[in-house]
Amino acid sequence: MKDHLKVPEKSGEEAIRMLKNSGILDPEFSILHEGGFLFIPLASNPENVDSKWEIVRLEGVARAKRNYPVRISGSYDVIGHIAISKERNEEKLRNLAADLMKSGKGIRSVYFDRGVKGDARIRDLMLIAGEDAPVAMYRENGIILKVDVKKVYFSPRLATERLLLSTKVSDGERIVDMFAGVGSFALNIASRKNTNITAIDNNPNAVSLMQENIGMNRLLGKITPLMADSSKAIIDYHDVDRIIMNLPHGAYSFIKPALGSLREGGKLNYYEICDFERLVDRLEEFRRIGLIMAEKREVHAYSSKERMYSVELVKRKLA
Ligand code: SAM
Repeated sequence: MKDHLKVPEKSGEEAIRMLKNSGILDPEFSILHEGGFLFIPLASNPENVDSKWEIVRLEGVARAKRNYPVRISGSYDVIGHIAISKERNEEKLRNLAADLMKSGKGIRSVYFDRGVKGDARIRDLMLIAGEDAPVAMYRENGIILKVDVKKVYFSPRLATERLLLSTKVSDGERIVDMFAGVGSFALNIASRKNTNITAIDNNPNAVSLMQENIGMNRLLGKITPLMADSSKAIIDYHDVDRIIMNLPHGAYSFIKPALGSLREGGKLNYYEICDFERLVDRLEEFRRIGLIMAEKREVHAYSSKERMYSVELVKRKLA
């Protein structure tokens, strides 16, 4: 039980000000409200309180403790309960991991990213803090994705890019995603548009997670996962409305087979990490083979000179 000052509502403001000024109001308990009266929790010394109001003993209601945000310095990505950092300074990395673990953001595992390996672009991860639990449920733009950060490539930094693309797609489009991973582009699109998407990846772990992700989300469109090498599989597709090529260090070498599968006027969403000069050369080369740039965007910085670029190309109609 706790002492409360019983004050008519109309005198509430005056009483609260008086109690605050004399340091008697208990901020850890809530002010209660009943029958036209406020019941203001008292910290101590009820004898110091102005006698014009009655002091009553009530079951107090403790306020929920506020978690003040921990200031986190350092760069990191969050995928569900997992945080991944490329910080190379060990002391900074350990401090960052400790801050993340107590940040209240629900982080249970912090990994150091030693870089991506091979065509599958799988991250080489070392556990720095928390539990080794690499499978995360990640929410993005209204969809849920299951991701195993040790077995597939996934970047939350493309969430806005995936949303933007999904808003540009029209109902009825036939789409091939040549480097689909766990299905993040395909699911963003099919959750908003009635499309028919073939989502190809040559990493069996990515394709099996994609299958689970398709089952977990409400989709307007259809996604067909395909475990294959895109350079070969794409040849079987003809007159496709749109092709997505999100292999930022390697998509360039797949451009000609992709072009052959695209219908005239069809769109190709191409991603590359490079410096600006290289991008200009690429665009000129694309123009020569019949792919005209419709839109170009910088998605994020990658190094001091390099950026990840998103380019929408349109296949020129033959005269
Ligand atoms: N688009 C996905 C995303 O945003 O989450 C993943 C993109 S990741 C950068 C590239 C993906 O391409 C990886 O999942 C990798 O396994 C796949 N990949 C690489 N070479 C491939 C190939 N020749 N054929 C099919 N998939 C390939």
